Order: sequence, then structure tokens, then C-alpha cells
Amino acid sequence: MKIGIIICDRYRGCPGGKCFRSVDQREGAFSIYPKDEPLEVVGFVGCGGCPGGNIEHAPEKMMANGAEAIHLATGFVVGYPPCPWLEYFVEFIQEKHGVPVVVGTHPIPEHYLRTHDALPSRSILRRYEDLVATQEVREAYE
Ligand code: SF4
Repeated sequence: MKIGIIICDRYRGCPGGKCFRSVDQREGAFSIYPKDEPLEVVGFVGCGGCPGGNIEHAPEKMMANGAEAIHLATGFVVGYPPCPWLEYFVEFIQEKHGVPVVVGTHPIPEHYLRTHDALPSRSILRRYEDLVATQEVREAYE
């Protein structure tokens, strides 16, 4: 399986350690893929900054390199606020490029969940069970 990852540009300086670790460990959003099958990241790029200019063309470039699914990184969900265009991006990419979109990459770090749990964004994070994972896993991704 080959995938592309698009990250929220607020985290454009992120070297991707949590994402690549969770690919390897099949944790968070990557828990949907079997551990005994190869999982290769063929693209990793920022959204281009609000309102996501790279979302239009990055998926097709990733697909040209074999991407069979596009992951919108966990930063889309845990940012303050969560990306307001997340649902639109999911629909747009699937409709325009005909490729499945998965929300999230690595498990949500514990401190993000605690902060959001005290905010109206709580319900957004709690939608993504694979990303919420367990407290033990969240603490391992601090
Ligand atoms: S909030 Fe959304 S559109 Fe803005 S930088 Fe982050 S992912 Fe991109």
C-alpha cells in the first residue's frame, strides 16, 4: 500500500517523526492497515497555508507516484482550532481525484486531547477513535 500525507501548514516545520513512527507501528489512523503488509509514504507536503492551496493538486502528484490513499495529518484535527475546511477537503479530494481520504496520521498526543476536551472542539476530536487511541498510546506520542 502506498500513501501520501498532507499536513496542516501551521506545522510546516514539522519533520514528521510522529507520522513516520505511526506508519511503522500501524498506530493512529494507520491502524487500518495490516502490520504484515508494506506501507510506503510516497509524498509528504504541507497544505500550502489557509485555505489550503496545495489541496487542489498535491493529491494527483502523489497518485502519480503510486499513492492509493491520501492522509490528512493529525494536525488538521488537533490544531487550535481544528482546520475549518477539513470536511470540504475530504469531499473535494475524493470527488476530484477519485482517491480515498483518511483523516489523521499519528495518535493524538495526550496534551492536545486534554486541552480540546475543555473546548467546543472536543466533539471534533472525539469523532476520530483511531486517533484518540488509548491514554497509554497518546502519552507515548507526547
Ligand atoms: S487550518 Fe487547514 S487550511 Fe489552514 S493551514 Fe491548516 S490545514 Fe491548511
